[in-house]
Order: sequence, then C-alpha cells, then structure tokens
Amino acid sequence: MEYIKNYTDGKFISPISGKYIENINPAIGEIYSYIPDADEQDVALAVAAAKAAFPAWAATSAQVRSAFLLKIASLIDTYSEKLALAESIDNGKPLELAKTMDIGRAAANFHFYGTAILHESSESHFTSPTAINYTLRKPIGVVGCISPWNLPLYLFTWKIAPALAAGNCVVAKPSEITPMTAYLLSEICIEAGLPKGVLNLVHGYGHKVGQAIAENPEIPAISFTGGTATGKKIALAGAPLFKKLSLELGGKNPNIIFSDCNFENAVATSVRSSFTNQGQICLCGSRIFIQKPIYEKFKNEFVRRVKLLKVGDPLQADSDLGATVSKQHKDKVLSYIELAKQEGGTVLTGGKDVKLQGRCENGYFIEPTVIEGLSPYCRTNQEEIFGSVVTLTPFESEEEVIRYANSTPYGLSATIWTENLNTAHHVAHALESGIVWINCWLLRDLRTPFGGVKNSGLGREGGFEALKFFTEEKNICIKL
Ligand code: NAD
Repeated sequence: MEYIKNYTDGKFISPISGKYIENINPAIGEIYSYIPDADEQDVALAVAAAKAAFPAWAATSAQVRSAFLLKIASLIDTYSEKLALAESIDNGKPLELAKTMDIGRAAANFHFYGTAILHESSESHFTSPTAINYTLRKPIGVVGCISPWNLPLYLFTWKIAPALAAGNCVVAKPSEITPMTAYLLSEICIEAGLPKGVLNLVHGYGHKVGQAIAENPEIPAISFTGGTATGKKIALAGAPLFKKLSLELGGKNPNIIFSDCNFENAVATSVRSSFTNQGQICLCGSRIFIQKPIYEKFKNEFVRRVKLLKVGDPLQADSDLGATVSKQHKDKVLSYIELAKQEGGTVLTGGKDVKLQGRCENGYFIEPTVIEGLSPYCRTNQEEIFGSVVTLTPFESEEEVIRYANSTPYGLSATIWTENLNTAHHVAHALESGIVWINCWLLRDLRTPFGGVKNSGLGREGGFEALKFFTEEKNICIKL
C-alpha cells in the first residue's frame, strides 16, 4: 500500500500530524493508497520553503524557466502510460480518456507556458512630448493553486505551469480525492532538477490545507478551480487580505439545438458533451434545448445512441463511461435523478446505478441518464449535478431559449448548433456565458481566455491572461 508524501523544499516529507487519509479506487470501491492528512503546519513549512526559493527563481531569465518547464513537459510525455493509469485508477475515468485527454493536456500546459514566457512583452506609453511610461510585470511571490478531482493533472498543471513560468514559487494542493498524479508530478519535478522550494505540494482535506492556503497572509494570490460554494469560502478568507483571486467555479451549461443544425454532428457531439468523463467536466452540456420541429427526431436518435454507451471497467478499452469519482458523489447524482422524478420528469434511459460483475462489482457506476418533461426553472435544471445526467427541453424561438439558457445562477460555457450565421451570432452574444462553442464542443485553443460569469467564477485563465494574473504590474514614468 503506497503512502503519498508532501513535496516541500524539494523533498518528500510526511505530514507533521502523522495522520493519513484513505484513498479509494472508485472502480472497485477499495482503498489503494494513503494521502497525508496535512494541516496549516505543513502549509506553513511549504510557504517558508517557497519564500526562501522566490528571490533566486524570480531572478532567473525567462529562458532558464522555460527550459525547466519544457523538461517537465517532456518527462510527462515519457511517463504518460504510468500517469494515465494512475489517473484512471484514482478517478475512475476510462484509461483511454486519461491517455487521450488528461495526460497529453498536462504536458501541453507545461509546453505552452514554457514557450509563452519567451514571447511575453510589456507595454510602453509615450506621453507626447513630455514623458515615456513603461510597464513592468513582476512575479507576485508565493502563490496558491488549488484544484478539483474531475481532471486532476490537467487542471493542476493549468495553474502551476503559468505560475512558475511567470517567476512565482507555488504552494499547491490537489484534490484529496485524486492526489496520485500530483504526487507523480512531484517525482517528475525532482527528476527535472527544479530548484528546491520552487514548487511545493501539500496533500489533504480542503477545510484544512485549502483553507490554510486561503488564509495564509504570505500567499497574496490564489488560483482556484472547484465548486462555487468552496469558491465563496476562499473569497471570504482572501478578501480581507486583499488577495488576488482567480476562481473557476461550477456550471450548468446549455446545449442549444436549432432545427436547421447539421443533425448528425449535433447528435454525435451532444452524446460526447453530455457523458464524457461520466459528465464530470465543468464544460459538459447538461441542459439540452431542442427546437420543436426536430424535438422528437433528435430525442429518439440521442436516446438510441446513449443506450449504446458501455458503462464498464475503466481499464477496458471499450468502456465509454467508467466509475463516478466517489460513493458520496454517486449518491448525490442518484439523488438528483430521484428529485427529477419528483419534479415531474420522465427518465427516457438510464436512471439507476450499474452493478458490474467481477473486479468492479463494488465500484461506483451509474447509467448515462436522459430526462424530459421538466420545467427549465426546476431544481434539476437549475442546480449543478456534475454527473451523467442530462435533460431535454423543447423550445420555439431564439428569445425563449435565450431566456431558458440564462435562467441559472451559472455562466460557464454554452454550445449552439445552427447553420444560420445570424442566429449563431445573435444567440452567442446574448448568452450569459464566458465561453460559447458554435457547432463544436471542447475545441480548445490554449491562447483563448477561459472562465465563467455569474456564479461560475471570477477572472480568466489561459494564454497571456494567466501570465497577467500571476504577475503584478508596475508602471514607470520617465520625464523626457
Ligand atoms: P470542491 O470545491 O469540493 O474542491 C475543489 C478543491 O478545493 C479541492 O482540492 C478541495 O480539497 C478544496 N477545498 C475544499 N474546501 C476548501 C476550503 N474551505 N478552502 C480551500 N480549498 C478547499 O470541488 P470538487 O468537488 O473537487 O470539483 C467539482 C467542482 O469543480 C464542480 O462544481 C465543477 O463545476 C467545478 N469545476 C470547475 C471548472 C472550471 O474551470 N470552471 C473546472 C473543473 C471543475
């Protein structure tokens, strides 16, 4: 049984409390490793190491930092099979998905910011005829990075890479539910020769380690991805200390299908955007709105294809859906299916947990579930479920569907399916959403701003936005 360690000051260390948390493989429902039950004392050690490392790391050239990041990217590629297996075991996601999506993207994050830092430039403003201003962008110091369980290494590195590239030292906390690939990343950082204290990883519960990062006065900036309720706690802790915050929070994304869409592309992609990673991607479209003339046709074909999806052992290549991340989360998703029935919904397919035979007989599996007949304003259609459950709702006009789509407290992403350019632009502009995909889903360009509006978050990640977040601007004015 493996005991994961914290990574502090370039070394692996046990939690000061000596306590550990059970780490469960959700596909088999059994403990397979232990995670440090760290607390504010371990965070204080990590902050001290990061503070000590900061002056030297901040003084390195962009070329030197780039070389470290590219080395880490290349080692992630080298160990991609091992990392993908660890991600699948920890999270329950299909191994194929971990290989094709999660690990490749983690390497790409380091590669992207390792090269982006070489292309950064700063502004200057000529105040004719008396002065010239130029703007310096300096690293902030010790920054906190806190990430969730759904795309563990993918989202963890999406924060760490720009923070390091910009010259900061990092105290990071992966989700206690999926800590394994973060632990393997610390091994990679040691192999890459990253100077000690530049990156520190503290494992443990959110209310202990996460809260200690949020409250620590020596961490002036925090990049967080997770639930909206947790984001509020971090904002509450950080606001009196005037911390810089980037908050990527929950979603309840609309997927809007107009009658004139390319039907085949819309159905095929909607199956993916509903159930990839068991529906546990913040960008999954959980509310599908279909224009009335094609409602029945779309519904029948969508349900037919969903019934063909195989829920199975994540390690088998033909499994489309693996396990839900934890028993607690499985129970939450199933409780929303019960709620949907109470609210008058009809389950068209799915609706139950899945009992597999053999190795995975005690795993946490749920059928992909499609529900119709609900009001767009009921709880099932307003609250984030974050699982393999979608609803179908008919609509008549653009105005009506915009009203439905914008009715939730969230505003992360949206998808629109239409062949009419005017409809596409009009609806995209009217949606309260940080990201809109037209005739596609999850087509990512890492240079674009990523983030949500309303209760889906604050600030933007991606491209130079993240490098700006992780730096402090200073304007210098010279009188000519
Ligand atoms: P969560 O909020 O429960 O946990 C996220 C992280 O915060 C974990 O590391 C957790 O330990 C930590 N945490 C918990 N309490 C804390 C506290 N008091 N202070 C500081 N940190 C604390 O979220 P989750 O269940 O791990 O992930 C699912 C959620 O993440 C969903 O709501 C999903 O929409 C959201 N998400 C958003 C995005 C995005 O880009 N907007 C991406 C992925 C997931």
